[in-house]
Amino acid sequence: MIKAEAIERASNEIMAKAAIDIPDDYKSGIKSMINIEKGDLSAFVLEAMLENWEVATADRRPMCGDTGVPRYYVKTGNEARIEGGFVELEHRIRRATATATHNIPLRPNRVHPLTRQDNNNNVGMNAPEIEYSFEPDADWIDITTVHKGGLFGTDYRMLFPGDGIDGIKRFFLDVLLAFGKRGLACQPAIVGVGLGGSKDTCMMLGKQAACLRTVGSHHPQAEVAKLEDELKQLGNKTGLGAMGFNGSSTVVDCNIEVGYTHTGGMPISVHCFCLSSRRATARLHSDGSIEYRTDPEWFTPYMRRNTVGRDGNSVLAGAAE
Ligand code: SF4
Repeated sequence: MIKAEAIERASNEIMAKAAIDIPDDYKSGIKSMINIEKGDLSAFVLEAMLENWEVATADRRPMCGDTGVPRYYVKTGNEARIEGGFVELEHRIRRATATATHNIPLRPNRVHPLTRQDNNNNVGMNAPEIEYSFEPDADWIDITTVHKGGLFGTDYRMLFPGDGIDGIKRFFLDVLLAFGKRGLACQPAIVGVGLGGSKDTCMMLGKQAACLRTVGSHHPQAEVAKLEDELKQLGNKTGLGAMGFNGSSTVVDCNIEVGYTHTGGMPISVHCFCLSSRRATARLHSDGSIEYRTDPEWFTPYMRRNTVGRDGNSVLAGAAE
C-alpha cells in the first residue's frame, strides 16, 4: 500500500527539485551547443545559463523567477494500491503544490482568466493539471512534475497528407520563427512535436514529447526518429541563437510523438520547453521507499499502445512492440 503521506512528501520534494535542479540530459545538450555556437552573444547567453544553474543549485533557489505552470503526470502500476485511492492522491498533490509554492518559494502564476483572482499558491480551478497513465506488472506509482514555461512557443495546424514532410518542416519553422523573432520564447529549448491523433491528442502528445522525453532520446520507429534528427538540424539553421541572438542554438533536441489520425488529415502541434526545462520524478514503492530521478520514463513500450489489443494479442505481447 502506498501511503498518502508519502505522496505528499514526494510531491513537495519533486516541486523543489524541478524548480531548482536542471536535468543533466538538458545541461549536457547545452554544453554541446556551446562547443559549436559561432555567435558571440548567443554563446555568452549559453555560458550565463550554465552559471545561473550552478548558482541556483548552490543557493537552493529556483533557476528562473517565472515558475511557469506546474503540472503533474502520474503513471500507476496496474498492481499499485493507494491509501485513500486517487481522490486522496489528487488532494495530496494539490496540497503539496500550495505548500511548495509558499516554501520554495515559487511565483504564484495561476490566476482566474477573467476575474484574475490569484489564490497565491498555483492551485485553482482545473489547476494544476494531473494526467494519468498505467503500467502493467508494477506496484509502484511514478509522480512527475513539470513546470512548463513559455507562455508562447506552442501552436497547432491541420495539415493534409499531401503536405507531407515538407509541410511538417514548414510549420515547424513557422512556429520557431514566429515566437523566436518576437522574443516570446526562451530558447534553446527541447521542442516537442505531436503528429496525428485528434486535435486534443495532437496537442497532448506534442507537450508530452517536449516535457517528458530526454535530450538524446529517439522515437522507436526509424522513420519518426529520422524526422526528429532532421527537424533538430533544420531548427538550428534559422539564424536564431540563444534568446534570439544571432547563432545556431535554438533546438536542443526535437522529440516527436505519433498518434493514429483521420485518413484525411495530418494534424501537427509544436511545443517549446524553455531554457528552464524543469522536470522531476519520484517513484513510490509499496514498501515505503521513494526514488528520485529526472527522466520521467513516461513513454514506456506500453505507453504508446501500438499493438495492444490490435491483433488479438495479450497486453504484454502488444506492449513489447
Ligand atoms: S520561458 Fe522559461 S526561462 Fe523564459 S521566463 Fe518563462 S519560465 Fe523562465
